[in-house]
Amino acid sequence: MPIVTTRSVVLQTYPYSDTSKILRLLTLDHGPQSVMARGALRPRSRLSGVLEPFAEGSATFYLKPDRDLHTLSDFDLERERQALGRDLRRFSAASVLCELVLRLAPAERDEALFSALTYGLDALLAAQPEVVRGTAAAAIWTVVDVLGFAPDLGGCSRCGDPLESRGGRLDVREGTLACERCLPGGGSLSPAEISVLRRLASGVPEGPSPSSQQVRLLIEFVRHHAAEGIRLRSLEFLLSEEAG
Ligand SMILES: [Zn+2]
Repeated sequence: MPIVTTRSVVLQTYPYSDTSKILRLLTLDHGPQSVMARGALRPRSRLSGVLEPFAEGSATFYLKPDRDLHTLSDFDLERERQALGRDLRRFSAASVLCELVLRLAPAERDEALFSALTYGLDALLAAQPEVVRGTAAAAIWTVVDVLGFAPDLGGCSRCGDPLESRGGRLDVREGTLACERCLPGGGSLSPAEISVLRRLASGVPEGPSPSSQQVRLLIEFVRHHAAEGIRLRSLEFLLSEEAG
């Protein structure tokens, strides 16, 4: 029964008993892991209040081969990120990042994914209020990209039009852009809007804030592709916020 210590982000927690809880972690060295934090819900536990979603630190646990649940022996907190919980939009976006990782992370070590997650959480924490929406979209895209679900935002996927002088539409199901001739219908994006989409999809939050429609398109895309039809609760919330 080897004992391991690895950098970890808490993705999700739930109570297991009156005194213990289970943590879903993304670890740097061993991919996603579930650990039992015995006694963590006791008021005087040194782990009490530490093991909340978005927290990052060094987790030490007994890694049992062929077991789904390991026993946490220590968690050395480095970043708590509790301030994310004080702003609904930041909290929702951070939850989307964690849900995507929970559902789609590969089983083994993935340093790029770990970096994308921690970078995204820190960016959401540091963003000024007026750029939270753009930061959220960029952070979600970065994680989606690392997970291998990035859309093709080149020219029209059907006729090759570069879509630089006229607009087009995002074909959410195909994950590609199409011009108005090839894919008629409403919801057309201007060339300027397409360039903002491309910028967001490349993970760059700076520049003009994306429109509600652009954020909605990005969220729809993630829902169709990365989430594979599964309803991600936090995505649903972001979507309802955009519609309102
Ligand atoms: Zn076309």
